[in-house]
Amino acid sequence: MSDSNPSEFDIIQSFFSDLGHADGATQLGIGDDAAIVRIPVSARLCLSVDTVVEGVHFPAGTAPQHVATRALGSALSDLAAMGAKASHFTLALTMPKSDSRWLKSFAKALHDMAVAFGVSLVGGDTTRGPLTVTVQVHGWLPPDKALTRASAREGELLVVSGTLGDAGAGLRCLQQALSDPNAEVDYLSGRFYCPSPRLLLGQQLLDCGSACIDISDGLLSDAQHLATASNVGLEIDASLIPLSPALQRLFPKQALELALTAGDDYELLFTLPESKLKALQSLSPVPVSVIGKVSGAGQQVSVKGYDLDIQQKGYLHFD
Ligand code: ADP
Ligand code: MG
Repeated sequence: MSDSNPSEFDIIQSFFSDLGHADGATQLGIGDDAAIVRIPVSARLCLSVDTVVEGVHFPAGTAPQHVATRALGSALSDLAAMGAKASHFTLALTMPKSDSRWLKSFAKALHDMAVAFGVSLVGGDTTRGPLTVTVQVHGWLPPDKALTRASAREGELLVVSGTLGDAGAGLRCLQQALSDPNAEVDYLSGRFYCPSPRLLLGQQLLDCGSACIDISDGLLSDAQHLATASNVGLEIDASLIPLSPALQRLFPKQALELALTAGDDYELLFTLPESKLKALQSLSPVPVSVIGKVSGAGQQVSVKGYDLDIQQKGYLHFD
């Protein structure tokens, strides 16, 4: 094997054959035509796939470790939004050339994140072409519970985890290539590069939450998806939207707009009965903030305290 330009089979063997959390559930992992995984008794399989493309989902030239964490973090976030416990993933990696330094950093970051979230890599595909990373994630749900977008009820609270707008601000910082990066720029760009899928919170919500979605396209856009699926209206109070100190300091004028319309935060937006809020707040591994409530019918998302430009609702491919 050439050390710097390994072949497809060398790549798989050297970088991906033993990646992630060592679990007892994988009966046959990488190396055969397909993987075999034991399914826990009475669990349901929950699965999702996500693709990130260079120049579309992350800027060209993004460091390999950031490509890895963005791809796996955003994919796992979909399992979080269903309340699933993540277990395995597969990786379809398309890249313009075989570069072992790039692959080493990519695989190391992927491994570290996989261990942190308890998932193992059980298969994939490796091809040549424009840099594209597809991650399929698999997880388990109990037989009788799941979080969907469709179960919000009138009178419930509308709640969000973490802070919003950070990843969008981080992307702006990266696009402006600020000559004088500081701790706040690092924080915001880190929120873009390395999403934190809220898996534990999602599992806690199985017991107390109703509807849930992860915020990938922007608060307004994803709130609208939830409102439509549940056939309810949502009233957001702009003054309640949680904003990080870094966002407020670096983007004082645009902070709220970023929180409402920029995507990529991968926080959870969910509804729950008011009586369940205190217990959740004491359990949740991440702060959760009430930002509004579920109103009657109408499927409208309204924002008190902000002049909405309906055209600016979030990121849409092909627009
Ligand atoms: P096939 O031609 O039968 O589809 P491949 O030669 O593509 O098999 O892959 C060989 C083995 O390596 C399979 O187990 C596959 O799942 C795994 N594999 C290939 N690429 C990757 C990757 N990027 N990450 C993880 N596993 C991979
Ligand atoms: Mg085969």
